[in-house]
Amino acid sequence: MSLPALVAPADELTIDEVRRYSRHLIIPDVGMTGQKRLKNAKVLVIGAGGLGSPALLYLAAAGVGTLGIAEFDTVDESNLQRQVIHGVSDIDKPKGLSAKESIAEINPYINVVLHEERLDNDNVLQVFEGYDLIVDGTDNFATRYMVNDAAYFLKIPYVWGSIYRFDGQASVFWPHATDENGESIDAPCYRCLYPEPPPPGMVPSCAEGGVLGVLCAQIGSIQVNEAIKLLTGIGDPAVGKLVIYDALELEWRKLKVRKDPNCALCGDHATVTELIDYEAFCGAISEEAADAAAGSTISVIQLEHMLKEREEGARDFVLVDVREPNEFEINRIPGSVLIPKGDFLNGTALAQLPSVDAGKQIVMHCKSGVRSAETLAIVKGAGYADAVHVGGGVVAWVNQVDPSQPSY
Ligand SMILES: [Zn+2]
Repeated sequence: MSLPALVAPADELTIDEVRRYSRHLIIPDVGMTGQKRLKNAKVLVIGAGGLGSPALLYLAAAGVGTLGIAEFDTVDESNLQRQVIHGVSDIDKPKGLSAKESIAEINPYINVVLHEERLDNDNVLQVFEGYDLIVDGTDNFATRYMVNDAAYFLKIPYVWGSIYRFDGQASVFWPHATDENGESIDAPCYRCLYPEPPPPGMVPSCAEGGVLGVLCAQIGSIQVNEAIKLLTGIGDPAVGKLVIYDALELEWRKLKVRKDPNCALCGDHATVTELIDYEAFCGAISEEAADAAAGSTISVIQLEHMLKEREEGARDFVLVDVREPNEFEINRIPGSVLIPKGDFLNGTALAQLPSVDAGKQIVMHCKSGVRSAETLAIVKGAGYADAVHVGGGVVAWVNQVDPSQPSY
């Protein structure tokens, strides 16, 4: 079902703009009117990262007149594998500024608005206000639920995308969508599809689990495609549809997503009537892991001392790296043994540890301290009462102890 165009056309295109957009203008569905609508459109892209990079480049090239960029991070070398809006000379530069410069190079007629503060409950509604739609490139659940709720309260469409390794998903969430006659089409929101966030530690982030760089372009460009359709009122937008992409099988699937009448946000008896505490709602780590880590977390500096003492024979412990073998190949803390987290979950890891009776302390670490907190809970549960984990993981080790190793 096509929906009415979100944006009224601008008064006119300049001669330069007509030349620039000629390949759009000769598509009958877009035409002069569609291009004028894009010129008048205001789109906010959250994050100039994996999804935001291709999304911003194509939105700018397409002639979306005002592009907001909500981004507080700086460019890191490990971003360049997929965040193609940034280059080598942008490393350490604010991502928003770097993105703005790239956009100016592609299309100087675009007005770029930077929002360089971290989005939170205090500013998200003000930042979103005035935009026609939101393109979301964030990769954490707390922000995603906040964006969904804020877009709902402002009644604007939320163009969502998500990527992990070889899998991508995209949809448009817009419970306030109406048809040509102004009638509600009962469209769902993100909470209708995912009422609860996954248990903390269950779904690794891209930083923990990796993502194929080109997948960002595939899903990011789907998001731009949906944005253009909504802004200009052409085609059949992915409102109430979930697109699932499997890059390894080269398979696209499209599923219907129905509005959930019991949805906490857009349902008949909504309980979420204002922004909530999203960090608490999603939880950084599970309760078990938080309990296990409380009072049993050491710093990388403490670990460095402990390793020295172990070398001198003054102390003995086992340092267990719970990451995956491919991560262990990139960098490692010297003297660690690899037992991936999965082995703790399936129960085979304990046989690889000295018995509890041996009295050897177990020290665990992962990339950043999330996975090792989860495995710490398992190990403590098995009776290793003095087990600890390393806060900040190998990332902190490389930053604070051994900068000669690569980070990722
Ligand atoms: Zn809903």
